[in-house]
Amino acid sequence: MRPHPQPAILPRRDAARDPLLPYLDAVRQGLLMIDRTGLVVMANAPARQLLAGLTVTLRVQAAAIPLLRALRDGTAPSRRAVLRNLRHALARRQPAMFEVRRRDHTVQVEVRPRAEDGWVVTLEDVSTRKATEARADAMARRDPLTGLPNRLLLRERLAEALARLARTGECCALLLIDLDRFKPVNDTLGHPVGDALLETVADRLRSTVRPTDTVARIGGDEFVILQAGIRDASGTQALARRVVDLIGRTYMVEGHLLTIGASVGVALAPEDGTDADKLLKNADLALYRAKLDGRSTYRFFEPEMDARMQTRRKLELDMRQALARREFQLHFQPQLQLASGTLIGCEALIRWRHPERGLVSPLDFIPLAEEIGLIVPIGEWVLRQACRDAMTWPDHMSVAVNVSPAQFKSDRLVETIISALAGSGLPARRLEVEITEGVLLQENEKTLQTLHRLRELGVRVSMDDFGTGYSSLSYLRSFPFDKIKIDRSFVKDLTSKPDGEAIIRAIAGLGKSLGMTTVAEGVETAEQMQRIRLEGCTDVQGYLISKPVPAEDLRQVFAGFPQA
Ligand code: C2E
Ligand code: MG
Ligand code: MG
Repeated sequence: MRPHPQPAILPRRDAARDPLLPYLDAVRQGLLMIDRTGLVVMANAPARQLLAGLTVTLRVQAAAIPLLRALRDGTAPSRRAVLRNLRHALARRQPAMFEVRRRDHTVQVEVRPRAEDGWVVTLEDVSTRKATEARADAMARRDPLTGLPNRLLLRERLAEALARLARTGECCALLLIDLDRFKPVNDTLGHPVGDALLETVADRLRSTVRPTDTVARIGGDEFVILQAGIRDASGTQALARRVVDLIGRTYMVEGHLLTIGASVGVALAPEDGTDADKLLKNADLALYRAKLDGRSTYRFFEPEMDARMQTRRKLELDMRQALARREFQLHFQPQLQLASGTLIGCEALIRWRHPERGLVSPLDFIPLAEEIGLIVPIGEWVLRQACRDAMTWPDHMSVAVNVSPAQFKSDRLVETIISALAGSGLPARRLEVEITEGVLLQENEKTLQTLHRLRELGVRVSMDDFGTGYSSLSYLRSFPFDKIKIDRSFVKDLTSKPDGEAIIRAIAGLGKSLGMTTVAEGVETAEQMQRIRLEGCTDVQGYLISKPVPAEDLRQVFAGFPQA
């Protein structure tokens, strides 16, 4: 505290008469002694310093209450209350403690009755401590990286907005923002680049809202905008559209040209809820919808979303029990070698015999199983069961098993396959693993390593659904696949669109020169098969040969074809 000139009228006992005073002057706290009648009889140096420049000057024998009143010197709303409490305390001889703001300082005042009579008042400048506390308090409400409000402060602002809604009817909107494709940036280019990208995202979001709105960061790549004082949904829609557009623009971060996207879920108050939890939950449901609809888009909450989520949750619960209840089943679809006209193997395709829904298609539960990680135990069951079933087939026939990206992530895949082969006695050369581009899109190095280990075991690897992804050609170069499976959509177009033929011919040629077998999927008619043969594919799979059938029906299917 800056030193004040010492007013001469402050009580200053003669040091010679009072040998204690130099010691009292040396303590950090200000000290006042007030006698039984309420008069100040002693003030040490720090007290004089803290009280210097007051509107009512402190006199020797000054009345304590006016003194303390002067201390209040402030505009605080509780001034009266403080004085009332203080008087009360003095009258009842009870201790009292309060804070006084003087200019930019805060002084903590403690009044204690003495056992014999009078009072002792201690004064302490707590400004620094207060400032530190205030700063820590502010920091606890901010995201350190972007400086944006964090979840705590967002909650407070949301509570304020909802209180305003209740009081004045002022509406607000909550926009939940999740970045698309942020994780790959972080994983491949490192955290410093990821952090810099997040800071830019924060700047862009800040730049597109009004000063009355709140932009918060509530998770790694999750942001929220609380839009205050809205009249109707059109302003919110415009904001959501701006956010998707702004975040989707290219970034230049530390020499890297990056593109990410934003999925946005929107909930409006009061329509979609008037309490914070409900609004956040509904914005989250809308966000989930935005992601399902292909990401980099926004969706407003609709009540059906809640119903759909309930259905999904039920499906999830049922699926968690389906393994133990033995509700899964494998169907097998044979593959025909065109040159020999014989069957060379079957693809295992999972089915779920649901107690209420009947037979559920893998298209309806595999994506969810992948999302919640349940595909790992399910996939393990498929591998073991498929190997066991294949042991009952003619010796030259192989079994193809679909393996999901999540299974590649789980580290256990190779061990599981070794154990499935050992457990069934199936030679590795009779097992084929089908992967899609999705597998190669993630952690490419590790995935390739796993594929090479499978190859060393003697297991064959096929590229499934070829042609439906983005960059199939480069993936074909990254690993020596044994087989390319041409997606059904090209076969379907074969007789209707001229380019279907050209594409199949190109893939068949590619396979031939790379030494890979080419299977056309989804062959349904004799005409399609004839064309495919002409274009140079080596194998076919489809309803024309056989639909996928349960293991027990395979013997009959096999009997309809010449034996190898
Ligand atoms: P996929 O691996 O491409 O399997 C081929 C799909 O095409 C199968 O559908 C099969 O029944 C269908 N199909 C075969 N021939 C024809 C045809 O001539 N016409 C038509 N319209 N369709 C035909 P399904 O069994 O519904 O399986 C769908 C997808 O689910 C599979 O596509 C595969 O990606 C996935 N899937 C199936 N079983 C498993 C599994 O055990 N694990 C994993 N991870 N995915 C599986
Ligand atoms: Mg497949
Ligand atoms: Mg396929």
